[in-house]
Amino acid sequence: SLVLVTGANGYIASWVTLYLLQQGYSVRGTTRNDAKGQWMKEMYKDRGLDNFDYVVVADLENDNAFDEAVKGVDAIIHTASPFHWNITKPDDLIKPAVAGTVSALKAASKEPKVQRVVITSSYASILENRDPPGSATFNEDDWNEQSIREVDEKGLDALRTHWYRASKTLAERAAWDYVKKETPSFDVVTICPPYVLGPIIHEAASPETLNTSVGDWYKYLTGEKTTADATAPAGVLCDVRDVADVHVKALLQPEAAGKRFGIATRTFTHQILLDHVNADPKLAQAFPHAVRGVPGQAVPPINIYDTSRSHKALGIEPRDEGKTAVDMTESLRERKVKW
Ligand code: NDP
Repeated sequence: SLVLVTGANGYIASWVTLYLLQQGYSVRGTTRNDAKGQWMKEMYKDRGLDNFDYVVVADLENDNAFDEAVKGVDAIIHTASPFHWNITKPDDLIKPAVAGTVSALKAASKEPKVQRVVITSSYASILENRDPPGSATFNEDDWNEQSIREVDEKGLDALRTHWYRASKTLAERAAWDYVKKETPSFDVVTICPPYVLGPIIHEAASPETLNTSVGDWYKYLTGEKTTADATAPAGVLCDVRDVADVHVKALLQPEAAGKRFGIATRTFTHQILLDHVNADPKLAQAFPHAVRGVPGQAVPPINIYDTSRSHKALGIEPRDEGKTAVDMTESLRERKVKW
């Protein structure tokens, strides 16, 4: 079978693609330019995986963006969506997030072979801020209306995290609205990961070009971040390999049709991740300026993301955070040699 993965050069998409290739699927990725596709193709080839190819889709906001890319594919995994802060207004995130999702679904409607579209959403589309922190539990039945309201009411004055969270909520809602309105012959599944960390296999030519979540972690390793940052509540964590695994499982399980799936390891601060890394002699030596912070601190109250239902349905047992922290840092140690 042939699977189309949009934004294939991305952090999460590269692991999704790896797992698909390892399980014998052929993957066609979309990237915004030729060089990014070529890099991925060579990376998989180096791992003995030849069934990856790519097409360039320069602008996913175009309604017909994926028309060529979708030809002959059996399924689509749509991950491409902006998660970065190089923006000046909410629409810099909301427009591509929503339009990209709609163009992926419109393309799927034009290829009769497509049976399922899996969309990478986020817990951003589920959790709201509640006071006091730790007082609320959310699951896959919930929707984050708060960020949309904040952006509607405050526009540029809304917190930028709400811009991003609104972009993910509106994009996912656009997908379910499409299903309701168009009743397509394929089904849709959405994946709602929390904050994703873990090793990188995608291209990052410099620390500055790392994806947002891992790039942020790198600043703890170089000492650019502080002890105060490290001990601040960071949200809910999940390992990129578990997130990729969920995408593949959700693609294959018939009963997954029409559902949203969460996945989560635990609530966290960067401090608990640093504790694992600072205790590893090789990593401590590679990153001598890593924030040490105040080791052994308990994680402050953070609202709970209860994804147990999804874990049970898909048979997911997320890795613990020590593995996530150490493997991620090891992958960055290897990259650092070339930076
Ligand atoms: P990356 O930045 O590594 O990947 C994002 C991908 O989307 C890249 O291929 C990027 O292309 C593409 N993309 C971004 N904006 C556009 C645009 N305007 N037009 C076309 N392509 C675009 O990030 P992640 O792997 O972390 O993110 C992948 C998905 O996972 C996103 O949907 C994100 O919202 C979601 N997610 C991420 C979490 C995390 O903590 N990392 C948590 C929960 C959800 P290019 O490289 O050319 O910019």
